[in-house]
Amino acid sequence: VAPLPTREERGTRPVLRPGAFVCSLDFELLWGVRDLHPADGGRYRENLLGVRRAIPAMLELFERHRIHATWATVGFVFAGSREELLAYWPRERPGYDDPRLSPYGDRPGRDEREDPLHYGASLVDRIRAHPGQEIGTHTFSHYYCLEPGQTRATFAADLDAAIRIAASRGVRLRSIVFPRNQVNEAYAGVLRERGIVAFRGNQPGWPYRAGDRGEANGRARRAARLVDAYLPATGPGVAGWDEVRRADGLCDVRASAFLRPHQPALRRLDGLRLARLSSAVRLAARAGRVFHLWWHPHNFGRHLEANLSFLEAILRVVAECRERLGMLSLSMGEAAAVAVTGREEGVRGSERGLRA
Ligand SMILES: [Zn+2]
Repeated sequence: VAPLPTREERGTRPVLRPGAFVCSLDFELLWGVRDLHPADGGRYRENLLGVRRAIPAMLELFERHRIHATWATVGFVFAGSREELLAYWPRERPGYDDPRLSPYGDRPGRDEREDPLHYGASLVDRIRAHPGQEIGTHTFSHYYCLEPGQTRATFAADLDAAIRIAASRGVRLRSIVFPRNQVNEAYAGVLRERGIVAFRGNQPGWPYRAGDRGEANGRARRAARLVDAYLPATGPGVAGWDEVRRADGLCDVRASAFLRPHQPALRRLDGLRLARLSSAVRLAARAGRVFHLWWHPHNFGRHLEANLSFLEAILRVVAECRERLGMLSLSMGEAAAVAVTGREEGVRGSERGLRA
């Protein structure tokens, strides 16, 4: 159990705001991995179909532990049928140098019942029905902002389509997660003009620097990210509130850690992995900083029970920090609001509502 901040810690660096635990999930179904797997999902099919069990189970867990989260959803996933999807396709589309990255030549099935790998309207509705859950965007088409060939204009058109299809389901988008974490600073204005207030920056350290596919997925960087999940190779990754709010008005609710899926071969190292994450959560709670954990629903599509119990162990640490240190559980949009206004009353109010 982590000690309370010492008088010295409090004296030299006053804790003005409570620490926060932020969760975000990149909800994308096959659209997020279509360049890596065949159209029927191939050997990843079980993970993708498993999303339909994983999402309700996660929502139940979040509700039980009063956890708020952002579900950064691919625009295509909002659709329940091909007609609905086609109605929102932008006229201007990305002309990637590598044409395999564009989903616009794909032929999804008729509707969600026939093609559960491409459509997720019922799941979006399910998430929306749960308290404290924010629907954000993961772009309309799982758009790659750092790949050669695409432009600011095609990104703007993509985001407009995402905003329109979300609005058709009563969702106003406030937060974005860039696909493959390809954060493109040159697009900050496109976000601001459209009312997006928060994005998820990459966690600090060279293994996590934004880049196109070649840069980000080099063997050395992948290996470093794996080691870093178990041993503190890059530090706890928590952010100060003053780092969240940027001069240009956007909020960078920076990632702290990726919640890796359960791997049976590495099960015996899970204690290390849990200790690494728990100590970062406790540090955020003690120092009044922000810890941001992210993953994909399809990461839980296999080994659901093992994944849920690992997540629950983290949420128990969050609960302990909430009791002892007033730690908040926030969506990205709520974290941005706290960073900008310096107040958390509204957020705490919604937690009380949750408990009632
Ligand atoms: Zn993605």
